[in-house]
This record gives sequence, C-alpha cells and structure tokens, in this order.
Amino acid sequence: MTDRQVGREIARWQQRLQLQDWQIGWEFVGGEDMECSGAPAEIAMNTDYRSACIRIARGSEDGSVLRYIRHEMLHLVLVDVDPVFTGACEALSREGAALLSDQWNSATERTVTRLERAFETVEPLCEPGTYAMVDPRR
Ligand SMILES: [Zn+2]
Repeated sequence: MTDRQVGREIARWQQRLQLQDWQIGWEFVGGEDMECSGAPAEIAMNTDYRSACIRIARGSEDGSVLRYIRHEMLHLVLVDVDPVFTGACEALSREGAALLSDQWNSATERTVTRLERAFETVEPLCEPGTYAMVDPRR
C-alpha cells in the first residue's frame, strides 16, 4: 500500500470515529522497531497533544494493512477512558497496578476486537484503490 492510500484510510476512519481533533501519523517499520515485539502493528498516543502514530510492519499485505489501521484507530477511540485506568493505578501498589494493567490491556483488546467485528458486518473493508467510490460522510 502506498503512503497516500494509508493516509486516506486513516483519514476515513478518523472522520468516521470523530477523531478529527487528533493528529495521526503513520510509518512502516521493521519488526525490530516495534515497541510491542511481535505485533504486526501498534499505535503510540500522546493524549496531551492529541497526537498518535500508527506503526505497521513493513511488507504487510494490503488487506492486512487495512485491518491494522481499523484496529489501531479503534484503540484510539478508547483512549478517553485511559485516565480512569491511570487514576486507579496511582492508588494501587506496584503489584496491584501491574495486575490491573494486564486486565486493562486484555479488556481493551477484547473490546477493540468486538468493535472490529461489528464494523465488519456493516462495512467490510474496501480494497485499496477503491477509495474514490467510498463516501466518507456515509
Ligand atoms: Zn489491539
């Protein structure tokens, strides 16, 4: 997928998910540059500056890139509940915070997966190159 196609796909999800107040960049990276080793994609967010960067494993197939973008954008929707998690962690011991962190990460991953399935039923991912036929206001 070209940078232009990735940018358009991110913009489309940004509009759909009402995340226009975010600056969202992206990059294709080698596996060694992923913070979550072994992940095919990840998103780094700075909530103070409302900026995010989606990293996608170089060499990923187009269909996978579309899925990764949707997945990471859905994580971004959930970021507004992060202060609840952060606040709870501050009140806990180190061990308690680590346990809560594991539970939080599992819960957000399950939620994102459910949202992906819901979107898939109402709007299957389009193939790269067909963007002109997609009305982003839909
Ligand atoms: Zn995820």
